[in-house]
Amino acid sequence: MKLLDQKTAIITGASRGIGRGIALTFAQNGCAVAFTYSSSTAAAEQLETELKALGVNAKGYQSNAADFEAAQQLVEDVMADFGQIDILINNAGITKDNLLMRMGEADFDSVININLKSVFNMTKAVQRTFLKQRHGSLIHMSSVVGVKGNAGQANYAASKAGIIGFSKSIALELGSRNIRSNVIAPGFIETEMTDKLAEDVVQSWRDGIPLKRGGQPEDVANACVFLASNLSNYITGQVLHVDGGMLT
Ligand code: NAP
Repeated sequence: MKLLDQKTAIITGASRGIGRGIALTFAQNGCAVAFTYSSSTAAAEQLETELKALGVNAKGYQSNAADFEAAQQLVEDVMADFGQIDILINNAGITKDNLLMRMGEADFDSVININLKSVFNMTKAVQRTFLKQRHGSLIHMSSVVGVKGNAGQANYAASKAGIIGFSKSIALELGSRNIRSNVIAPGFIETEMTDKLAEDVVQSWRDGIPLKRGGQPEDVANACVFLASNLSNYITGQVLHVDGGMLT
């Protein structure tokens, strides 16, 4: 028996990076995976093939998490295709970094809409299903930056801090229905995004982390498996820091 056997998850933003790592790890743990992406169709098709090869039901959906109606439609489509949803991972996110002095209104709005409003959209869309079945695990991807702040990322930090307040409120609202809501706050996770940075910059970040390395998507994915599985049945309203000790 695998940890996520007979469960179905929706994972937003899984065509690359952390979301892709979560999708693969979930499939290895027996979970059926419905995942979304914004525009990377070829990468999504490739992932769908890889997931099916692991022996689980899997499908990618092009769906804008920032669009309220699209989130409703997505959940309808996933219910039609999979017949159940047990886990929602709100992972889709973007950055539009700049110092406040140079940050335009559009940079603020798009980051809030894609990172934070998406969490409202998707949680609202699965709520009815979770209430009916009287169980569900919500996992939202925040960041160390949402807890600590970061110069040049006021929009991103605000969106990631907002996710924590949202999750704790939902944990209080829906706990009596056996619906759990938790946050993961990754530190520095090495993805294609960080591959673009200069090696000496990356190395100086690694040196500052107590565990002396950047995280891998699998490190975040394993924490998600725990929060999605029955092993965490008595855990809700929490923020789990997956950051190699960065905040210590
Ligand atoms: P990434 O490599 O840039 O991947 C982002 C994913 O989100 C892609 O699959 C992208 O799809 C999708 N996406 C973007 N906008 C979307 C939208 N409007 N609707 C649906 N999907 C959308 O990012 P990552 O590094 O894996 O980060 C994943 C999450 O972890 C984010 O929430 C990020 O803030 C958080 N996080 C990352 C780190 C880190 O160090 N990497 C640290 C802390 C927190 P397309 O491929 O189609 O564009």
